[in-house]
Amino acid sequence: MIQLQGITKFYAGSAGRVEALSGIDLKIDPGEIFGIIGRSGAGKSTLIRCINLLERPSEGHVLVAGRDLTVLDAAALRAARHEIGMIFQHFNLLSSRTVFDNVALPLELIGMTRSAIEERVTPLLDLVGLGDHRGRYPAQLSGGQKQRVGIARALASQPKVLLCDEATSALDPETTRSILALLRDINRRLGLTVVVITHEMQVIKDLCDRVAVLDGGRIIEQGDVFSVFTQP
Ligand code: ADP
Ligand code: ADP
Repeated sequence: MIQLQGITKFYAGSAGRVEALSGIDLKIDPGEIFGIIGRSGAGKSTLIRCINLLERPSEGHVLVAGRDLTVLDAAALRAARHEIGMIFQHFNLLSSRTVFDNVALPLELIGMTRSAIEERVTPLLDLVGLGDHRGRYPAQLSGGQKQRVGIARALASQPKVLLCDEATSALDPETTRSILALLRDINRRLGLTVVVITHEMQVIKDLCDRVAVLDGGRIIEQGDVFSVFTQP
């Protein structure tokens, strides 16, 4: 579903060039939950943002559902991004919009009619357990509820891939567990491929099928979660 081929990313830093990623090769299968773990500065954010080209790789290719995103023009890239949803550590909701209107936003942007939007958004709010909260504003929600809105918004365009950027790092342990359960449920029910980046080992153990360990911009280990984290 996702193939990263020779991804290298340089940033122009004040002290010269920073190589955030060095020759990353990675294959993520359809329907799996793939974790990328590493300490702060390892390159996790850069890597996940390269998958939807929020960050453009300096070198290498990104294939999603067989299509090379790095060679698309702006319009084709915008269309391809509908297949990739993303959720964030700090939720990135619009405070002036209700729960419903936050989830509806990506559909408004593609010109969907109000009735089609209603039909799409209502079951998504039920799926994430916020059917009774559609008229609330983000300030009236708990952290876990805000992330549920973020998840519903990410699913609005019916993506094949869901990218999760430290999605539970701002949440307490109990809320984290409920969000991870929701992600697993979505993965099973919708057959969505899920990519998770985190610095929290427990998130990987609770959620992921396979994991890659990122350090200094390189993958130093990968495999199924059990074999990577069980010491001989
Ligand atoms: P992580 O998400 O694992 O903490 P990042 O991908 O944020 O790692 O960062 C990897 C490296 O790239 C770090 O050294 C960081 O300081 C650097 N970096 C990240 N974003 C930028 C940027 N926009 N400009 C310059 N350097 C950056
Ligand atoms: P998080 O850990 O929540 O991803 P960061 O502080 O790592 O937050 O990054 C927030 C933003 O700052 C990102 O867009 C990242 O690319 C950018 N950034 C990170 N490190 C640097 C850096 N050394 N120089 C410039 N921008 C950076």
